[in-house]
Amino acid sequence: MGVISELDKNYIAGTYKRFPVEIVGGDGSIAYSSDGKEYIDMGSGIGVTSFGYSDKIWRDAVTSQLSKVQHTSNLYYTEPCARLAEMLCLKTGMKKVFFSNSGAEANECAIKAARKYTAEKKGAEYSDIITLENSFHGRTLTTLAATGQDSFHKLFTPLTPGFYHTPANDINALRECVKSHKSAAVMIECVQGEGGVIALDADFVKAARDITREEGIPLIIDEVQTGNGRSGYLYSYMAYGIVPDIVSTAKGLGGGLPIGATLLGDLTCGVFSFGDHGSTFGGNPVCCAGALSILERLDDSFLSQVREKSKYVFERLSSADGVESVSGAGLMIGVKTVRAAADVVGECIEKGVLCLTAKDKVRLLPALNIPFETLKKALDIIASVAAIK
Ligand SMILES: *Cc1c(COP(=O)(O)O)cnc(C)c1O
Repeated sequence: MGVISELDKNYIAGTYKRFPVEIVGGDGSIAYSSDGKEYIDMGSGIGVTSFGYSDKIWRDAVTSQLSKVQHTSNLYYTEPCARLAEMLCLKTGMKKVFFSNSGAEANECAIKAARKYTAEKKGAEYSDIITLENSFHGRTLTTLAATGQDSFHKLFTPLTPGFYHTPANDINALRECVKSHKSAAVMIECVQGEGGVIALDADFVKAARDITREEGIPLIIDEVQTGNGRSGYLYSYMAYGIVPDIVSTAKGLGGGLPIGATLLGDLTCGVFSFGDHGSTFGGNPVCCAGALSILERLDDSFLSQVREKSKYVFERLSSADGVESVSGAGLMIGVKTVRAAADVVGECIEKGVLCLTAKDKVRLLPALNIPFETLKKALDIIASVAAIK
């Protein structure tokens, strides 16, 4: 390993266990390392670089905005921010957008919107947020409280109070949990990402919609990882035939630049007044210009190609030696291997493929536009590593 990793080890806080690869460039789904190697990137920066490295359309959109205005704060109007909000609303039917800079912030905003909505409607004591066991909603103290995995909580308590977790896919438990608390909202991921790439049952998601409607409280869908085409649909809730009241998204939206968005539907679009929330960087024109260039390409024909590639991955890996099961949706895929996932990922790197893990699974989040041939090559390598006894 070289100078970069030495510096990193000396000066970067010890939160990240990095792989021994210094990435210095890339083209589409291929990453270049400082030692002159090429890797097929099956992680896309954790589902962020939706169109891969150095995508021409995205790069042109970003650099053209960069040469005009890089930042103004939210005291002034800028075109990319307004146009992106319009496009998000036109494509989803949601009514208003709040921009931030990350998934955790998008969820913070969703939680604030839900708490204010329900406080005004039912009383300030209705402040509890119901989320699922095994969920992941972020790393701030509030979104950690929302995250239903104790391993993330320890030694960081007290977390923000008012968060309760109920098991996924248990409709009666969800109803009981909502009714037995002073609930302000239910928040779920339709496909649990960090929790192991597990798609929720359709009946359960529909029941979450019905129960929240009966209680008169917002349903929040966390589309931070699943959103922006990742699930094979523009947003994963669309495959479930429901309409949420609040949607949070981030990761893949900016194509590689930090942006979060919280979309407010009919029920909640009027909830915020001047001063209720804010962000210095939120709606940054360069990030929004990049996001526009991503979102405008996520049309029906592109999304059906994502679903086709997904089908290929499921078929190729389900029948592979050493693979126990394949889960997920779209190009958000969890592979349960007989071998330990970390060993498979480590050996895939040696063979030129970058993969992720989620819990005990190998997780694949390739760029949405990964060429079929490149995808096939990566899957052949992953399958060959999984098959080693
Ligand atoms: C990654 C993720 C987050 C947190 O996003 P950050 O940008 O890291 O703050 C929240 N929710 C889900 C579902 C995620 O996958």
